Amino acid sequence: MELRFSTWQEVDAYLQDSKTIIQPIGSTEQHGPNGLIGTDALCPESLAVALGEKTGALVAPTIAVGMAQHHLGFAGSVTLRPSTLIAVIQDTVNSLIRHGFERFYFLNGHGGNVATVNAAFAEIYAQSSMAMTAADRSQVRCKLVNWWQAEGVMALSEELFGEAEGSHATCGEVSLTQYVYPHSIKSAEMDPPIAPTGPFYDAADYRRRFPDGRIGSNPSLASPEAGEKLFKKALAGLEKDYRAFSA
Ligand SMILES: [Zn+2]
Repeated sequence: MELRFSTWQEVDAYLQDSKTIIQPIGSTEQHGPNGLIGTDALCPESLAVALGEKTGALVAPTIAVGMAQHHLGFAGSVTLRPSTLIAVIQDTVNSLIRHGFERFYFLNGHGGNVATVNAAFAEIYAQSSMAMTAADRSQVRCKLVNWWQAEGVMALSEELFGEAEGSHATCGEVSLTQYVYPHSIKSAEMDPPIAPTGPFYDAADYRRRFPDGRIGSNPSLASPEAGEKLFKKALAGLEKDYRAFSA
């Protein structure tokens, strides 16, 4: 069940049975020569919708722009600064708390969001802890789950792609979008086949170190068939984890 396709009466009825909502969160940033700029939002969104269908959970509209300042050296990338993203998450969660939601299952598609999302959770808990009457908010629980860390997914990526999986514009995430959006498959030469790895700082530094945008990956190995396997593996792991969280 998706919030954007529901009426307020349906949400009221949902809240009689469950206080948990799935919040997909991603990023809008370059993903190398054959990866879609929406990859990090499309992956958790498609998994969240499937997870919602399996479990009956309500799925909030995707927060599709994340913390991606280091990708601004590439055309099309968009970022929120960390403080803005914290404010977006706080306002979203606080709005939903007002209606009675208590558990927030953030399904994430972008490693660069992790620190900021956890900072936002700390702000939300501080708000509960420092309230004059904490009783109303004491049940609030937020959880961040990276889809690529769902049970069995990293082992499957390793089996499918070995060291070519990499850490940005990975074979796995490109495969997942190829499975879900087969009409948007792109192909490109990868030179060198496996991209360099290493640390980075701001956008100019990132562009210098990783000229085509990839880190450590060779996403020319991506395929919709691999994406289907990864999607099913991730969904099974997420279902188990979501049920435990919402119980
Ligand atoms: Zn990504």
